[in-house]
Amino acid sequence: MEEPRGRKKPPRHLADLDEAGRKELLEASGLPGFRAKQLSVHYFTRLTSDPAEMTDLPASQREELAATLLPPLLTPVRTLEADKGTTRKTLWRLFDNALVESVLMRYPDRATICVSSQAGCGMACPFCATGQGGLQRNMSTAEIVDQVVDGARAMARGEVAGGPGRLSNVVFMGMGEPLANYKAVIGAVRRLTDPSPAGLGLSARGVTVSTVGLVPRIRQLTEEGVPVTLALSLHAPDDELRNELVPINTRFSVAETVEAAWQYAATTKRRVSIEYAMMRGINDQAWRADLLGDVLRSYGDWGWVHVNLIPLNPTPGSKWTASDPADEREFVRRLEAKGIPTTVRDTRGREIDGACGQLAAAED
Ligand code: SF4
Repeated sequence: MEEPRGRKKPPRHLADLDEAGRKELLEASGLPGFRAKQLSVHYFTRLTSDPAEMTDLPASQREELAATLLPPLLTPVRTLEADKGTTRKTLWRLFDNALVESVLMRYPDRATICVSSQAGCGMACPFCATGQGGLQRNMSTAEIVDQVVDGARAMARGEVAGGPGRLSNVVFMGMGEPLANYKAVIGAVRRLTDPSPAGLGLSARGVTVSTVGLVPRIRQLTEEGVPVTLALSLHAPDDELRNELVPINTRFSVAETVEAAWQYAATTKRRVSIEYAMMRGINDQAWRADLLGDVLRSYGDWGWVHVNLIPLNPTPGSKWTASDPADEREFVRRLEAKGIPTTVRDTRGREIDGACGQLAAAED
């Protein structure tokens, strides 16, 4: 997606650049290029951008080196905790006052951060708070990566209940449609998975990129050679309803979208996750569970897919509210009867406006 001309770009940061680019940027600023590696170690291994902690750099140059390659990108506006301190949601202000959010969730066996890839979102899904405000702008690679580095730092320093630990998973399910900001998102995936100190050294298996179904970009991702997990937000198995819930469906039908997801699984051997937000009386009927099962089964039953049902926040009086638990159970039962592995997403952070976009919207 093109950015409007003349708009100021986020500050350039080492996470935007590969190792050669970092060196070049230092040299272009009249600084010694070989310091780039030390700065990368500070950022990706020691998880710091604070020049005061960089005692291996000459005191006279520390500030300038850090200002050149590690400019501040995210300013915390507010942090909310839930689930006894194991869920932490942060609202960030970007250099141009745009607001985005990330959510860190610690589980017994892993710690996952959910990051934003755009300020706002242009996909206009009617049930989503972020979608109502439209797209402000794409985030840069470093703005995306910095949310993850912040989460990794919080884990390493024991700031999340449960003591020091390691961040293991990243999901691109915060604000924005990741594949509409394809280049920056792929850059971020590479930085996150590049071995330290070029990057954060996470396993690609621990990274999930979600999409509402930008079919040409799913195809591009299939060829990219980064074996991340693809999560397709389907929300309806039929075009009639999906055209309404996920307007991009009027360009790429359910059949085309599921076909592209299946091709992704077939090529990468990574199981695709179908995300399905359960909305009472809208998409949670038993017949739609059967239809969803049939659509997915039509591509074979070799374990290429599983379904993740997302309970919406209960919003009494709203058109978009949580399904009845009995309907949810029946939906699961019918999918499983068709041989589709199905899980119901836990409702982490529900009491801190866990649904996408609500926190940023509340600050405006
Ligand atoms: S649900 Fe996702 S894709 Fe749709 S408007 Fe919200 S953030 Fe965008």
